[in-house]
Amino acid sequence: MSQETLSNLLQENRRFAPPPELAASANATAETYAEAAEDRLGFWARQAERLSWSKPWGEVLDWTNPPFAKWFVGGELNVAYNCVDRHVEAGLGDRVAYHWEGEPGDTRTLTYADLQGEVNKAANALLELGVRKGDRVAIYLPMIPELPISMLACARIGATHSVVFGGFSADALRKRIDDAQAKLVITADGGYRRGKPSALKPTVDEAVAETPSIEKVLVVRRTNEPTATHERDVWWHDLVDGQSDEHEAQPHDAEHPLFILYTSGTTGNPKGILHTSGGYLTQVAYTHHAVFDLKPETDVYWCSADIGWVTGHSYIVYGPLANGATSVMYEGTPDTPHRGRWWEVIQKYKVTIFYTAPTAIRTFMKWGDDIPAGYDLSSLRLIGSVGEPINPEAYVWYRHHIGADRCPVVDTWWQTETGGIMISPLPGVTEGKPGAAMRPLPGVSVDVVDDQGQAVPNGGGGFLVVKEPWPSMLRTIWGDDERYVKTYWSRFEGMYFAGDGAKKDDDGDLWLLGRVDDVMLVSGHNISTTEVESALVSHPKVAEAAVTGATDPVTGQAIVAFVIPRGAAEGTEGEGFAKELRDHVAKALGPIAKPRQIMVVPELPKTRSGKIMRRLLKDVAENRSLGDVTTLTDGSVMDLISAKLPAAK
Ligand code: ATP
Ligand code: MG
Repeated sequence: MSQETLSNLLQENRRFAPPPELAASANATAETYAEAAEDRLGFWARQAERLSWSKPWGEVLDWTNPPFAKWFVGGELNVAYNCVDRHVEAGLGDRVAYHWEGEPGDTRTLTYADLQGEVNKAANALLELGVRKGDRVAIYLPMIPELPISMLACARIGATHSVVFGGFSADALRKRIDDAQAKLVITADGGYRRGKPSALKPTVDEAVAETPSIEKVLVVRRTNEPTATHERDVWWHDLVDGQSDEHEAQPHDAEHPLFILYTSGTTGNPKGILHTSGGYLTQVAYTHHAVFDLKPETDVYWCSADIGWVTGHSYIVYGPLANGATSVMYEGTPDTPHRGRWWEVIQKYKVTIFYTAPTAIRTFMKWGDDIPAGYDLSSLRLIGSVGEPINPEAYVWYRHHIGADRCPVVDTWWQTETGGIMISPLPGVTEGKPGAAMRPLPGVSVDVVDDQGQAVPNGGGGFLVVKEPWPSMLRTIWGDDERYVKTYWSRFEGMYFAGDGAKKDDDGDLWLLGRVDDVMLVSGHNISTTEVESALVSHPKVAEAAVTGATDPVTGQAIVAFVIPRGAAEGTEGEGFAKELRDHVAKALGPIAKPRQIMVVPELPKTRSGKIMRRLLKDVAENRSLGDVTTLTDGSVMDLISAKLPAAK
């Protein structure tokens, strides 16, 4: 890949200054950057002071055996104590930790004191089931309070949890249980999705029939649907409810394994990413404080992700709880019972900080502006995005229709592997650019390098790397140190290779350009899928677009685009529309970026975490049979798309 790789095609000149009121009392200021630049490790040591440690650490970082890092060496803490008990001890027991909203409209309010009782009971129950420090526990639950409670109960006793997203198949669950050799699965009879109970227990039964490591299955009753029972099954209400609500948390080493989480599988086989305790909690607490400008006394924070993804681990559970935040947690889908459900939730709980993903934002654009306009969203003061590059048009729509042109948008770049946010605007400091994740956070060393590992100058593009270890970095791939070294630390000497392309604009701000694997080579020019997609989404009739490079006899690769029109748009059929879009892209990016083919499709293939799976579109565009589809949300999408593609050659 040459330096012209992710060439600066797209012009985006809109700028949004931080709201003066927010800037005046922001948690992170311009000085924060300077302070961290002066003494990076000292900066992180100060952030670690946000936590309560049972035993102080010696060295901040031990990097004598790279790439195996140890942070806060010798320190001891209990993560659950830090997330729950210490707030109760500080007199904040009555503060709401979670406003939980079930999809059918049932609710539960858990204060920090309630959470303490529940976590302690669950911790005692795990001990009664024979779970001990260092054991692995698989958690396969819907978005109900027992999910964070189970995670915290594991953390409390030092068991390592592996949360598996509740939409995954028996096969996917079985693989993850086997890989981690989990002893226990915590699940539920089911959860609510799209207005009906959706069973989970049968999937677990199928999975554990072939997982010898599993001794017991702990089952929460959520839907009350009948479910088969086996000898290994234990009902949560039988076992947990009767436990003592007291449990004394023991300190664990800063490097004690907190959880394993498998990546979403956008690019291939998921990897079991291992995170540990002290550094992880430090960085998620700090970033949640700085990026979301959290004021725990007054804010109501809502991250709409599923806890089955890293975003939910770090920014629904650990970061917010470590900071004593009040959060909303919602069980179901955004369109049940109607397409305004999320806005209704914001209105109901007076949410002030909202964190979601570009895929959701583009869906709302497709559904139409009038839906959010029907709700009172005036409580919001800051909105965020994570998961994919946010197309400039989606950013501007989000800022305008959800943020009332008042709320700063924080576009946060990070990965399962990084554990916490790495690149993001600081809402009180940064003048936002639509589509740019902007700058590495204080204490984080990120750069863009060419294929020789040399930093590119401003205006250049290449590979995103992290140049120094960071507290919430993955420690390894579970059980596979070699794959850890090979995947992340072998591409460039001494640097973490993220697998994403990026460019630095003339001001040195960072624009994420999607997966390095997705870059297209058209007539000798490297073109990023993100830029072509953003150009398509900037057309008023387009809500979503996915682009892939298909082998072409003339140009090497040719751009094939799949677009979903906006709900209300007319004239989105036929060759006329395709030509209109091709011309639009040519105008925005230059004729080289003009798609060879444009397909209007009803849906796009996405991972369960909502990311577009371009590799499947490439299979379609190149007339191949499809690769691994196990992490695809809905298999029928590919049939719908293939049916639309008579012309794909
Ligand atoms: P796998 O590694 O198994 O292919 P995945 O990379 O999709 O799965 P995650 O860790 O959930 O799994 O996603 C991290 C990736 O998501 C990043 O590497 C990046 O490509 C993308 N991403 C996340 N946030 C942003 C953002 N704000 N801007 C651009 N890209 C983002
Ligand atoms: Mg990845």
